[in-house]
Amino acid sequence: MARYTGADCRLCRREGIKLFLKGDRCYSDKCAIERRPYPPGQAGKRRPRDSEYRVQLREKQKTKRIYGLLEKQFRSYYELANRQTGITGINLLRLLETRLDNAVYRLGFAKSRDEARQVVRHGHITVNDGRVNIPSYRVRPGDVIAVANKSKDLVVIKTALISSEKIEVPGWLEVDIEKLAGKVLSMPEREQIDAPVREQLIVELYSK
Ligand code: SF4
Repeated sequence: MARYTGADCRLCRREGIKLFLKGDRCYSDKCAIERRPYPPGQAGKRRPRDSEYRVQLREKQKTKRIYGLLEKQFRSYYELANRQTGITGINLLRLLETRLDNAVYRLGFAKSRDEARQVVRHGHITVNDGRVNIPSYRVRPGDVIAVANKSKDLVVIKTALISSEKIEVPGWLEVDIEKLAGKVLSMPEREQIDAPVREQLIVELYSK
C-alpha cells in the first residue's frame, strides 16, 4: 500500500498544528513546529488568504496526515462513510479510528501510527488470536488485539510502552499492559476521538 515517505515534520508545519507523527520527538523541545512555527518553503512566513475552500481543503489534508493516508484511500473512506446511515463526518472518523494500525497506536503498542503500521505489517499483532498483518483491517466491538507471543520482547514494543504513558487510552478501548492485549469495548463515540478535526468541513469539501 502506497504511503507518504517525505519529512513528517513538514506536514505539521504545513497544517500549523502538532500531528504527533514521530513519537517521543513530538513531546520534546526538538519538535519542529515549536522551533519553526510557520509553513515550510520560501513563502512559508507569508500568510495566505483563508478562503472557504482553502479552510476545507486544509482540514481534509490535516486529517489525512494524522491517519497517514493518501488521497485515494481517504476518499474511499469518505465514500463508505457517506453510504452508511448516520452523520457522514462522524462515520468517517469512526472508520479511521477503527483501523487496526490506529487501534494499536491508541493501545500504546507503538509510538506513532506510522510505527503501528510497521508493527502490524511485520506480523507482530493478533486479533482474536489470529495473526493480522493488514493495517487497514477494521476492528469491531469484542475484538481482542494483542502483541503476538513471539514479539512481546521486541525493543520497538517495549520502548512504545514507556512512551505511551503520555497517551491516554480512549474509552472505546481497554488495555491490559501485563498481557500486552487490548479489547474493543464499543464503536468510538465522537467525544472519544481526540483528533483535532472539524469533520463537517471535509464533508462540505467532498460534497461540492
Ligand atoms: Fe509534528 Fe512530531 Fe515533528 Fe513536532 S516532532 S513537528 S509534532 S511530527
